[in-house]
Amino acid sequence: MISNLKPIEIWFATGSQHLYGPETLKQVAAHSQSIAQGLDAGPDIPLKVLFKPIVTTPEEIRALCVEASNSPQCGGVIAWMHTFSPAKMWIGGLSVLTKPLLHLHTQFNRDLPWGKIDMDFMNLNQAAHGDREFGFIGARMRIARKVVVGYWEDGDVHARIARWMRAARGWHDWQGARFARFGDNMRFVAVTEGDKVAAEIKLGYMVNGYGIGDLVASMDAVPDAQINELCAQYEREYEVSEELKTGGARHESLRYEARIELGLLSFLEENGCVGFTDSFEVLHGVQQLPGLATQRVMAAGYGFGGEGDWKTCALLRAMKVMAEGLDGGTSFMEDYTYHLHSDAHQVLGAHMLEICPTIAAARPKVEIHPLGIGGKADPVRLVFDTPSGAAINASLVDVGNRFRLIVNEVEVVAPAQALPNLPVARAIWEPKPDFKVAAAAWIWAGGAHHTGFSLALDAETLEDFAEIAGVEFLLIGEGTTVRELKQQLRTNEVYYALSQGFGRS
Ligand code: MN
Repeated sequence: MISNLKPIEIWFATGSQHLYGPETLKQVAAHSQSIAQGLDAGPDIPLKVLFKPIVTTPEEIRALCVEASNSPQCGGVIAWMHTFSPAKMWIGGLSVLTKPLLHLHTQFNRDLPWGKIDMDFMNLNQAAHGDREFGFIGARMRIARKVVVGYWEDGDVHARIARWMRAARGWHDWQGARFARFGDNMRFVAVTEGDKVAAEIKLGYMVNGYGIGDLVASMDAVPDAQINELCAQYEREYEVSEELKTGGARHESLRYEARIELGLLSFLEENGCVGFTDSFEVLHGVQQLPGLATQRVMAAGYGFGGEGDWKTCALLRAMKVMAEGLDGGTSFMEDYTYHLHSDAHQVLGAHMLEICPTIAAARPKVEIHPLGIGGKADPVRLVFDTPSGAAINASLVDVGNRFRLIVNEVEVVAPAQALPNLPVARAIWEPKPDFKVAAAAWIWAGGAHHTGFSLALDAETLEDFAEIAGVEFLLIGEGTTVRELKQQLRTNEVYYALSQGFGRS
């Protein structure tokens, strides 16, 4: 459970008009209320669904959209046209709506009452054409939205709405979010750079720099008693190596990591930050690169990016918010090294230290080993494997005139053999559609070596998120070919160059 989440609800809006008389409108309202309540009670629906009185005039529609846009709790609007709601009435409202929109195309009555159908039924159950009129104005105005089609009680309809709600929650969290960077980018690295001003304009979050000394001051203020308590907690939660345990020869290193964790958490809280980046090149005054501390802060729901990677940090935070309440963890990840045997081409994903224990298959070990780079003291870290199953890797890159979100569907597999000498947490996966196509497509798309990795989220949720954010989305999965992906990249270059003129960025 992430502690620093903002409250959020989804509004259910129904359009109609006065043509049908007050009796019909009463029925429309009652049906709409039933659908909103049915969604709200759905076991897979992650957010509260709030019924809003039906809207029948341009003034009511605009007022509802202004209210939704101004409401801090409103994370998105679901719109449904039970009857015909002439869509010119929606232009004013949709022009000012700043919240994510889902167009639910459903019908209150599941079945045609074959033997009893009359014009009253026909006049009430008009979504078949009412929603098409609404669809036209969405298309005409280039409104970002998700369209979900099907009977409103069906599980697959709930599942698709739930994914959009998760995406809307990630977006809601980003608006006004703050991320801290200790130091700057790893020297000479390209993909972790980018336009932070463009990110704040387009994506709503801000990234600000701090000296690592600011963190040291926060670490120095941590009382010993809290460090004792946290070290005892480590020993309860993990398999702590003998040398790091209380009384062990290297216990001081564990205590130092506890000091980093507590100092980091209080720093982030005091500065209202929901994620951070650091760099092994900028550690003046910190004796070791934060390992265990970063891993645990990530597990608490904060974003993280190594080597100053603020885009992956922010993306990871959004992915953790989207995954809230789902089974399976979400972590910072890096494509580290390969297995290129003819039987199976696989990726070993890891980082120098910072992999989130929410993806651990079993109780993690706490170990201390040399880092090999950075010239600092040996860092303490959690070591574990990742369970098998479907997962995604996601990367947000800045390609100059826009942000691009790339997602690769992967299958996590068990390691073919034990890895007794590998002193870091890791995951082994086979990318879809296969290793060669996936890696080539990723490279053509300019995807980073850093990703947000999730066993909880699927590609559709990230696609919904990209739609809400108005950023380019590329999926690498079943059916992807390099030739088509290259063509998609060329087409997108034209689209994004022209789309400002279409009224949609
Ligand atoms: Mn890295």
